[in-house]
Amino acid sequence: MRLLCTNDDGILAYGLACLIEAAEPLGEITVVAPDREQSATSHSLTLHHPIRPIERGERRFQVDGTPTDCVMLAVEALMSERPDFVLSGVNHGQNMGEDVLYSGTVAAAMEGLSLGIPSIAISFAGGDLRADVSMLRDQIVPLRQLLKRILSLPSFPKDTLLNVNLPPLRGEEIRGVRLTRLGRRVYSDSLKPMQDPWGRQIYWIGGGSIEWSGEESSDFRAIEDGFISVTPLHLDLTHHEILASAESWWQPQ
Ligand code: MN
Repeated sequence: MRLLCTNDDGILAYGLACLIEAAEPLGEITVVAPDREQSATSHSLTLHHPIRPIERGERRFQVDGTPTDCVMLAVEALMSERPDFVLSGVNHGQNMGEDVLYSGTVAAAMEGLSLGIPSIAISFAGGDLRADVSMLRDQIVPLRQLLKRILSLPSFPKDTLLNVNLPPLRGEEIRGVRLTRLGRRVYSDSLKPMQDPWGRQIYWIGGGSIEWSGEESSDFRAIEDGFISVTPLHLDLTHHEILASAESWWQPQ
């Protein structure tokens, strides 16, 4: 089994090391990851300058590009054979609800799916990673068990990627795996007005507080309840329920 590992936190990120450790017994790993942090770059593709892979060991490459670039480069140029799975993560921070629209971690899995490869995005729903780093270590064994199960499914669901969030708990405290849907989140005060060193007005996006809402079956509720959350996602953004009623917009009055 050939496994392509990537992330959006950069090739040196601890979460990627944890993913590699979790997945190593399950197949042959190739790592193609950005050379620096690319969080919240979503599904962006580098079009206006070339990208350069640098070999950092056997089947290990860093790329001066986005997570999407990495997956494309890996599949179409760097790997001698196509991977059986794309694994992206483990992201430093949750990717739940609308996060998936900004996330480079999830986008790498989307790119895998676009190329027809079963793909899984994995994120650690801990807050401050410096404080929670040993907790991320504790996720390796449960993550390996989960991946083992998914990788051995008789058929991976078609046109689907799996978005996994790991709860910020000690290994033995994790209560199991729950299948979920995306919740909703509201960021407050995440745009900070400030001044640059020359007294000019600038803004910094980030920080603030997050509130979550969603039903029992949503991703953040699973994390809150101590479960690993697994959300199946697809790329078709069509609002199928609206389609029928929208027909009337073009009917003569
Ligand atoms: Mn990230």
